[in-house]
Amino acid sequence: MIEIEACTEQEPPLPKDIPCADGTSAFGGLYPSLRAFREHVFPGVTESRWNDWRWQIANRVLDVDTVEKVLGYSRAGSMPLGKGLPMAVTPYYLGVAAVAGSTALRRCIEPTIHEFVMDPSEAEDPLGEEGHTAVPGIVHRYPDRVLFLVTDYCSTYCRYCTRSRLVGKGGRRHDTRKWKRGIEYIRANPAVRDVLLSGGDPLTMPDDRLDWLLTELRTIPHVEIIRIGSKVPAVLPQRITPELTAMLRKHHPLFISLHFAHPDELTAQTVRACAMLADAGIPLGSQTVLLKGVNDEVETMKRLMHGLLKARVRPYYLYQCDPIPGSAHFRTRVEKGLEIIQGLRGHTSGYAVPSYVIDAPGGGGKIPLLPEYYVGRDKGNVLLRNYEGRLFTYPDPEPSAVITGAALTENAQ
Ligand SMILES: *Cc1c(COP(=O)(O)O)cnc(C)c1O
Repeated sequence: MIEIEACTEQEPPLPKDIPCADGTSAFGGLYPSLRAFREHVFPGVTESRWNDWRWQIANRVLDVDTVEKVLGYSRAGSMPLGKGLPMAVTPYYLGVAAVAGSTALRRCIEPTIHEFVMDPSEAEDPLGEEGHTAVPGIVHRYPDRVLFLVTDYCSTYCRYCTRSRLVGKGGRRHDTRKWKRGIEYIRANPAVRDVLLSGGDPLTMPDDRLDWLLTELRTIPHVEIIRIGSKVPAVLPQRITPELTAMLRKHHPLFISLHFAHPDELTAQTVRACAMLADAGIPLGSQTVLLKGVNDEVETMKRLMHGLLKARVRPYYLYQCDPIPGSAHFRTRVEKGLEIIQGLRGHTSGYAVPSYVIDAPGGGGKIPLLPEYYVGRDKGNVLLRNYEGRLFTYPDPEPSAVITGAALTENAQ
C-alpha cells in the first residue's frame, strides 16, 4: 500500500469552543448562508481556503460531538461509534445541513443509537458482492459490465451506505497492485464493455491517479464506456475543478452517476459543479436511495428530481435501501417507493422519473419495480391503468385472430 497523497494541512480542524447554534434562526435554517456558517463555525478561514477541496478534506469533521455542537443537541448526548462505518463530513456539507436546518441531511451523516439495532434480515454484504468478486475490487455480476471498487475512501460517509462493511477503513490510499490485477482481469475478459468505477468515491482521488487509471482502462479495446459513481458534487463540489474536467474529457465516452439524497443538496455550488461536468460532455445520471425521514415523500422527491434536471442531471435509479446492519430506521416499505413512482410518472416530465429498483439480497442484481399499469388481458385487449388511475384498453389480438394478408387473399377467391 502506498500513501498517494499525505494530507499536510496543519490547520486545527475547529476552534475549541464552537459557537453553538441555538436553532432559533429566523431563516428556517441555523444560518442565512454558507458564508455566515463559515464565518461563525470556522472563523479565520478565508473563502479561498474554504473553496480548496484539499482544505475541505483535511478538515473533515470526524466526531459526533462536533456535529451536535454545530447543529444543536437534538439527541440524548453523543453516541460512541461502533466498529463499523466511521463518521466523516466535509465542513461544506455540514454547512449545507446547518443552513438548510432540516433533519433530512443530518440523518444522512450523523450516527445515531439506531445503528446498534440489528434486524435478523440485515447483513454485512446484503448484495452478495463478495460472492461475485472475481479478483479483489472487481464485482462481476452481470455479463457485460463490472463494478471496480478503486478506493474505500469518501469525503463524507452516508450512514446508509451499501458498502458500510468496506469503506473508510484504509485512509486515502489505494493498493496499486490490486488496481493492476483489476485492470488485467478486465483486459482478459472481452465480454466486459462497461466498467463502473466506484468505491468509496473515485473523485476523492488526485487527478493524476484517476488519470492513470482511466488511461490504463482506455488501452483495453473492448471497454466501450467507463462510468464513475460519485457523491462529490453534493458533498465536496470544490473538487470539480477545470483541471479535473479537462482530464476527464480525455477519456470519453465517460458517464458519471451522481448520488443525491435531498433537494437541499442542490446549492449554487453543487449546480455549478454539475454544469462543469456536463460542459465537459459527460452525461450525468443520479442515484437516490429512498430513505425514511429524508426523501420519502412525493413532493420532496419531485423537488429533488426537478432540481436535478435543472442541473442537467438525469434521474437514473431510485434504490430501495439495502438491508445493511443497523439500517432499519432508514428503510421504508416497498409500497412507499411505488407510491413515489406513481406520484411522478405522468404527473411530471418522463425525464424526471428514475427507475425504482431493489438490488436483490443474495446477489440477484437490480430488479425494477413498477406500480401496476398493466392490469391484465381481456381476450384481444390488454387492460391498462393510466397515471390518473383510469382504465384503458389497447387492442392486442391473439396471433391466431389476426387476419393476415394470406387469409384475405383466400377469402377473395
Ligand atoms: C449496479 C451495478 C452495476 C451497473 O448496473 P446498471 O443497471 O447497468 O447501471 C454493475 N455491476 C454491479 C455489481 C452493480 O451493482
